[in-house]
Amino acid sequence: MNRKTLSVICAAFLGVALLAGTVAAQTESEINAALQAAYAKYKDLQEGKNADYIPALAKVDSKIFGIALVTPGGKVYTAGDIKSEVSIQSICKVFTMAKVMEEQGAEAIIKTIGVDATGMRFNSIVAVEWSQKLLNAREINPLVNPGAIVAASMLKGANRDAIWKSLLGFYSDFAGRPLSVNQEVFKSESDTNQRNQAIGYLMYAYEWIKSEPMRATDIYTEACSVNVNAKDLAMMAGTLANGGKNPVTGKQVLKAENVPGLLAVMAIAGLYDDSGKWLYRTGLPGKSGVGGGIIAVSPGKFGIAVISPPLDDAGNSIRAQKAIADISNALGGNPYAVKK
Ligand code: GLU
Repeated sequence: MNRKTLSVICAAFLGVALLAGTVAAQTESEINAALQAAYAKYKDLQEGKNADYIPALAKVDSKIFGIALVTPGGKVYTAGDIKSEVSIQSICKVFTMAKVMEEQGAEAIIKTIGVDATGMRFNSIVAVEWSQKLLNAREINPLVNPGAIVAASMLKGANRDAIWKSLLGFYSDFAGRPLSVNQEVFKSESDTNQRNQAIGYLMYAYEWIKSEPMRATDIYTEACSVNVNAKDLAMMAGTLANGGKNPVTGKQVLKAENVPGLLAVMAIAGLYDDSGKWLYRTGLPGKSGVGGGIIAVSPGKFGIAVISPPLDDAGNSIRAQKAIADISNALGGNPYAVKK
């Protein structure tokens, strides 16, 4: 090879390398810009109010507003308050469902609980009656309270303590750090948990739960009380966006084959009664909790989370919905949109 050919090849390689560098750098700055823009746009928004049917949630600072995004490559982008913790609430249902899938396979969810939207409130008893009496089938899902309490009853372990430690460890593997329980929220919710207890007994009466319905309800309640910040939630979502492998620790937390089913149920039931509206606007499987967090997943692209406690009438954080929708749209996150 003569000197001229060699220098042409070198120049071509350099050009490609520079181009790749530019694209990567642009993408990083685009992501940062999208997060900062959403933060600036919504930080002064004064709409909605904290959940108060669990007394401790009413006391949480309504001004907390944190955004975090994690890519499959393990890059973490943040804006606003990513230190303050809130209770994970209903978002935990995704990860309890994931644990049941790991322990018993994906079919166990369909057979024992169902994967259909109820079209009713998250703690609806009518939804259970409808499935039981009218459809004579298991046609609810693990992201509404009755299904989540059944999922908690399916967790494997020698006793309550062993089940709980294993579940909390599983959540922590998703977050990439040891998570802990907000004892004030756990107590507050346990003291006012009569409706969930009624649901637990109902599911036992109908034999969806095989034994110890109050143990399952209590584990469910403790799971809802786990503290998380926006970065924790984004890492949990990022692990789902990365085929079940935590993009920072490298641990395969959930088998890749279980991820699509999990995301499918998030898509149909993740944002309470507004799940359809959310999917229509963003295309993203998501899950919200009454603590003010929302996670969303753009498979292969990013996991995102926002925490902001004031909720709308459906129970979804107002700022979180708006910020995630803006950021995802800016980054081409909708998996249904084909780029030409
Ligand atoms: N622990 C709450 C309950 O069972 C969770 C509600 C939620 O975040 O949707 O009522």
